[in-house]
Amino acid sequence: MEILDGKKISNQIKEEITVEVAQMKERGEKVPHLAAVLVGNDGASLTYVGSKVRSCKKIGFESTLIHLPEETTEEDLLKQVHQLNNDPAIDGYIVQLPLPKHIDEEKVLMAVDPDKDVDGFHPTNFGKMALDMETFISATPFGIMELLKRYNVDTEGKHTVVIGRSHIVGRPISILMSQKGKPGNSTVTLAHSRTQNLKELTLQADIVISALGVPRFLKADMVKEGVTIIDVGITRVADDTKEKGYYITGDVDFDNVSKKASFITPVPGGVGPMTIAMLLKNTLLARERHNN
Ligand code: NAD
Repeated sequence: MEILDGKKISNQIKEEITVEVAQMKERGEKVPHLAAVLVGNDGASLTYVGSKVRSCKKIGFESTLIHLPEETTEEDLLKQVHQLNNDPAIDGYIVQLPLPKHIDEEKVLMAVDPDKDVDGFHPTNFGKMALDMETFISATPFGIMELLKRYNVDTEGKHTVVIGRSHIVGRPISILMSQKGKPGNSTVTLAHSRTQNLKELTLQADIVISALGVPRFLKADMVKEGVTIIDVGITRVADDTKEKGYYITGDVDFDNVSKKASFITPVPGGVGPMTIAMLLKNTLLARERHNN
């Protein structure tokens, strides 16, 4: 069994980006600038945005955090989005999800300029991804593909079962795994909450990508020997014995499933850090595209 070490690979990617940014500086070019919009004070969102901004600093990007109060109106948020669209200093930006309930998420994401949509959530970018065109691929599926690539995991002709059909993980990764390419060329089954006999499907899978958000959902008796496991799930489980009052766990019963797996991602330290690295990669791409 080999661990797909997202922490290690994400550090490699960040080092590669750091070198490119230093070269940009030497050439007297503008360095990439990522902005993040956060509405409200959701604990997990604050953590994610905080680490995105810190990562920018470490690799030499400029970054701007726009932290708006919970009661921000949809109209005001849309104004902010338009400002970012029109600000030449900003190469790319993200609007951290989830947004407060009174704001229409779709409306906001649709307002983001696709050329600055480094999260790859805009339909233009999602559509281009589905058509194999150059675009911004959403950071989490992009990170999974990069991890598979750098560990040389053979995906060709394999049966991949994706669990979860969200717009940001399950759906796009099911498309990417079926695309012509390496990694890719997989035969994909996309399972979701209405899927019947999931265990029958996962037992046939060479690769399982789990993105549903239910702690330790995928058990050892649901997978075959030699399977590759990508665990996207991140759930905070309350635990008074921990300093923070919770611990983080994935969708996979790691201790038992890992005994049967040939490759497996840990949680934390698997897909999570890759997501941040690929967001930075997309921001670098945005800067380069704006230069050209
Ligand atoms: P989501 O929460 O929007 O949707 C969950 C999906 O799981 C749905 O499509 C649903 O049909 C499916 N599902 C629910 N119960 C099921 C069941 N019993 N059997 C089969 N399918 C079932 O999905 P999301 O936003 O992709 O998030 C999924 C998990 O991934 C969460 O834990 C989230 O925190 C985590 N996540 C991690 C990263 C990362 O960087 N590692 C990024 C995004 C999301």
